[in-house]
Amino acid sequence: MSTLLTLRNPATEAVIHEMPHATVDDVDAAIAKATAASPAWRKMAPVDRSRLLRRFADTVAAHADELAEIETRNMGMPIGNSRWCANMVADVLHYFSGAVEKHTGSSIPVAGGVDITFHEPLGVVGLITPWNFPMLMASWKVGPALAAGNTAVLKPAEITPLSSMRLAELALEAGIPDGVFNVVVGPGSTVGWRLVEHPDVRKVAFTGSTEVGKRLMKGCADQVKRLTLELGGKSANIVFADADIEKAAAAAPGAVFDNSGQDCCSRSRVLVQRSVFDRFMELFIDASKAWTVGDPMSPDTAMGPLVTAGHLAAVRQFSDGLETVYTGEVPTGPGYWHPVMIATPAYDAPVCHEEIFGPVVVVIPFDDEADAIRICNDSIYGLSGSVWTRDGSKALRVVRAMDSGTLSVNSNSSVRYSTPFGGFKQSGLGREHSMQVLDHYTELKNVFIATD
Ligand code: ADP
Repeated sequence: MSTLLTLRNPATEAVIHEMPHATVDDVDAAIAKATAASPAWRKMAPVDRSRLLRRFADTVAAHADELAEIETRNMGMPIGNSRWCANMVADVLHYFSGAVEKHTGSSIPVAGGVDITFHEPLGVVGLITPWNFPMLMASWKVGPALAAGNTAVLKPAEITPLSSMRLAELALEAGIPDGVFNVVVGPGSTVGWRLVEHPDVRKVAFTGSTEVGKRLMKGCADQVKRLTLELGGKSANIVFADADIEKAAAAAPGAVFDNSGQDCCSRSRVLVQRSVFDRFMELFIDASKAWTVGDPMSPDTAMGPLVTAGHLAAVRQFSDGLETVYTGEVPTGPGYWHPVMIATPAYDAPVCHEEIFGPVVVVIPFDDEADAIRICNDSIYGLSGSVWTRDGSKALRVVRAMDSGTLSVNSNSSVRYSTPFGGFKQSGLGREHSMQVLDHYTELKNVFIATD
């Protein structure tokens, strides 16, 4: 079997890069490097670790355009979105550079002495990331991992590794010591799995499919290895009759067609109260016409191609033969293009329940508040979601009743590096972002000191 990795531009199908796969020996070597770098990194004065991470953030910001172009060529994301991602990578690293000196322990009142807690770094952590937001997902893990005093081995998705490889170079350029942040590129089942198996890796942080997440959970069980999972979703965008329907409909396409629907937070089920269903559909279809599909290098493009021919085929399993109320246009010629699609299928159709990870949205009518909550929670997933209403009490009642981790009201935007992000049920385990994520990259140590 060939060990050469061939990367293609999804908009042109042209080969953009060839490189050898890492082997399991390469992973072991990276883990050894991370292990060797660990004592100095964890003992470094917090202010110095913070300063180095800040320099890393600034170096990324200075290379934002370059990183954005790499991402767009490798993954097909429209260039405007890639630039936004590159700048967010810098902001994420900046946030966690500031967190180094603020993740404090506590002192607890006890009899006969004092009791204090410490957040201890884990050691070497393995980070496994997907292809849909390659550099962003890398930063969401590398930032808190390094801030907490760990060293890291990152395995990006083998089809979109280029921006992560560049991030590792920029880290070195910024002065992060060699061995603190390592990248290995290769298939999940061998190179990724080695991070699960290797006894010197103390934690695995994973973003990807629910199916692979379950496999990793079983693999980590043998060593009781720490594991956080950010998995799939089938999130609900709930529009009540008393909402600002124009605003909700104008925002709905972006919530599912952004990144060609290749987004675990995609609001791919729109639930609309029956009395405004027709009006909403009219506005939603109108707004979706702006989602032109085309060359992702053009700043005017709203939506690029899907990532690979294989993924296009997977999405088509749902969309081929699907009766739609709106189907957009796609370019002709090479490229893994898929149009935006809006459908109102029967509720028991698989497309209403399975994660499609493409630009296909289902719209489902509901009768009242209880009905909306029932449909929303009728899913194995619980990652994200939105509620649109002008009634503040109803908004709060509904978000409290939704079995999902990351929600928004009168907006579809709920992911910020300073606020916790993660899923209920089969959407994941643990949280990313905010100061909370640092608890997942440290062990809590408790010490009693007798004074009497
Ligand atoms: P997607 O369906 O989005 O491609 P996957 O869950 O297949 O997501 O992949 C997400 C990441 O997990 C990728 O980096 C992939 O290489 C890695 N991966 C896949 N299978 C395994 C495995 N058995 N062990 C470790 N990592 C894996």
